[in-house]
Amino acid sequence: MAQAPNTPAAGRGKSKELPEHLKAYKNVWVFVELEHGRVHPVSWELLTEGRKLAAALNVDLAGVVLGPSGEGTDSAVAEAFHYGADRVYLVEDPLLENYRTDPFTKAMTDLVNTHKPEVLLLGASTLGRDLAGAVATTLATGLTADCTELAIDPNRNMAATRPTFGGSLLCTIMTQQARPQMATVRPRVMAMGEPDRSRSGEVVRERLDMVEEDIVTKVLDFIPDADSNQAQLAFADIVVAGGLGLQKPENIKLVKDLAAVLGAEYGCSRPLIQKGWMTADRQIGQTGKTIRPRLYIAAGISGAIQHRVGSEGADQILAINIDPNAPIFDFAHHGIVGDALEILPALTEAFRQRLAVDRLAG
Ligand SMILES: Cc1cc2nc3c(=O)[nH]c(=O)nc-3n(C[C@H](O)[C@H](O)[C@H](O)COP(=O)(O)OP(=O)(O)OC[C@H]3O[C@@H](n4cnc5c(N)ncnc54)[C@H](O)[C@@H]3O)c2cc1C
Repeated sequence: MAQAPNTPAAGRGKSKELPEHLKAYKNVWVFVELEHGRVHPVSWELLTEGRKLAAALNVDLAGVVLGPSGEGTDSAVAEAFHYGADRVYLVEDPLLENYRTDPFTKAMTDLVNTHKPEVLLLGASTLGRDLAGAVATTLATGLTADCTELAIDPNRNMAATRPTFGGSLLCTIMTQQARPQMATVRPRVMAMGEPDRSRSGEVVRERLDMVEEDIVTKVLDFIPDADSNQAQLAFADIVVAGGLGLQKPENIKLVKDLAAVLGAEYGCSRPLIQKGWMTADRQIGQTGKTIRPRLYIAAGISGAIQHRVGSEGADQILAINIDPNAPIFDFAHHGIVGDALEILPALTEAFRQRLAVDRLAG
């Protein structure tokens, strides 16, 4: 039924004013994702990005560490300061040993309700995605997932940009009437700053007001992934990838050979996954991995926008494509126009010889 234009409901959502009671929300927070004693590096990337937002807002930057007491948690706190946090909110409790939605959501929402941050950033990891959704719905605030850019607008709102319509457009989303403004960012999308080991800061401790009986999920055992072949694309220094220009599954070997000589990871564009030529963990792009290597070699890949968003963070991109007008040449730093089936083996041989000479020299 059509809503009469002057009813309160018709105007709902149109005001851009932040309600008075939310104006007390201040500071930028980053969730420091600690699991089994190790921090996910996306946390340090987000602290680096959070520092820029905090500077634009002229507020403090804080890390949130949730975990059991012990060495892993202590070092996560210390490192959060090294990567730029002015303050760390810490909840230490044995119930936070293994990730479970209930206790982590309770710890985070209690912290937010007590200390009132205006921005809360989390990594778009498996754990971060789960926690962000649960926290945002519990707090009834806005969450923008998989952001590629974060900025502060003139009204102090966070402008969170992310791909939409299958990556063909970028949209900027703002949470104007609720706090905190939440966003998740995939690993390697933001650059990680250099840690400053001399930095320290204030630790604010809070308690987890919960007992085991309150939690429905029970962790019976933790079995780490035994597949040592799993691609580490996101953190590789050098990545070599192939696309449909490789023409036949047998030609994947050309990509693997070059990767092996360079000590690189190998990957591909999405159609190769769909054809079953490589496993899904090797897909680079919007619906695959975001990479940020020092060198990315892309052979027979056109450079569609969905591939570009996952690879353009590389320091140097070398594109090999038979078509001089391929879109990949718009963002590659170096280009070879030619047949990848000839150029890949030639590069492999040239690097093999050159690296052998370098090894002999010292
Ligand atoms: C919702 C959605 C999500 C997507 N997510 C991703 C994603 O995460 N990652 C991704 O990669 N794609 C993704 N895609 C697909 C994307 O739009 C493109 O279709 C895909 O990236 C194209 O792959 P390609 O470059 O290998 O193939 P093509 O576009 O067919 O390009 C092949 C290229 O190889 C060149 N070539 C041909 N023969 C040779 C040769 N002998 N030597 C050298 N070059 C040669 C051609 O000139 C051409 O440029 C997504 C699409 C959608 C709709």
